[in-house]
Amino acid sequence: MIQIAIVSGKGGTGKTTLAGSLTFLFENHVVADCDADAPNLYLLLDLKDKESFEFSGGKKASISLDKCTKCGICKDVCRFDAVIYDGDYKIDPYACEGCSACVIACPEKAITLVKTKDGEYYRAFMDSMPVVHGRLNPGEDASGGLAAEIRKLAIKEGERLKKRVVLIDGAPGIGCPAISSITGATYIVIITEPTTSGLHDLTRIVKVIQQLKRRFGVVINKADLNTEVSERIERYCRDENFKILGRIPFDETVELAVRQGKPVIHFQDSEASKAIMTIYMKLKRILGIK
Ligand code: SF4
Ligand code: SF4
Repeated sequence: MIQIAIVSGKGGTGKTTLAGSLTFLFENHVVADCDADAPNLYLLLDLKDKESFEFSGGKKASISLDKCTKCGICKDVCRFDAVIYDGDYKIDPYACEGCSACVIACPEKAITLVKTKDGEYYRAFMDSMPVVHGRLNPGEDASGGLAAEIRKLAIKEGERLKKRVVLIDGAPGIGCPAISSITGATYIVIITEPTTSGLHDLTRIVKVIQQLKRRFGVVINKADLNTEVSERIERYCRDENFKILGRIPFDETVELAVRQGKPVIHFQDSEASKAIMTIYMKLKRILGIK
């Protein structure tokens, strides 16, 4: 199966605008929304037959009050201030890092590490197209692990249903969730905007992708908003021999499509839609998809 991941150096650069439209253009594919911190691709899709799965990103300490003799050793050894005392010793689940120091130190063996429920992920269908997406509980930071679970389930679904392509809306940035989204991708589409920080973010994500030895191409979103920086991005890509997949012009139809909860590709006469169609055709050619 061909895995195509769409990523950006930071959020808000048009990643889901592109991914949402490609979702409606590709055929015989599975979609994975790996942006579990701010999932919104699924909002564009009419999903049915949703099945949910629990996600556990790790373990946290839990004190058995029956065994605890209130010696306070656990509070002394915890470097994360995760043990609190309010007449009983208790664990603050948001502060606990699951390091086990208190488990080892407790003379009464009153502390155990227990699996936590950090979020959920879902498999649903839009017609015959499986869509896998997820949501991390507020305050949790295991989105890299959840992105990996979403991607794995999407690949499994693709294999089960003999799909040709897995389309991944990746997590933004260059951290663990972004890397989890692109590990193993056949091809990565980086979307950037013509701002100085956009160019900086582009260079950072390119370094990560090069370390992972993945093929990639660049899309400049709102390319005509700042032609000077757009040209700098193009020059950077040319000098480094990076492929430019396309330029999406600033188009108010994108905002209109978002307000209506539709992908911009449904507005076929819009300039953004035409640019995305060109990018789609180019991607198919590069990847040998008929
Ligand atoms: S170290 Fe064990 S016995 Fe002592 S206060 Fe903590 S949980 Fe209770
Ligand atoms: S597992 Fe580590 S972080 Fe959590 S309460 Fe125990 S010592 Fe603190």
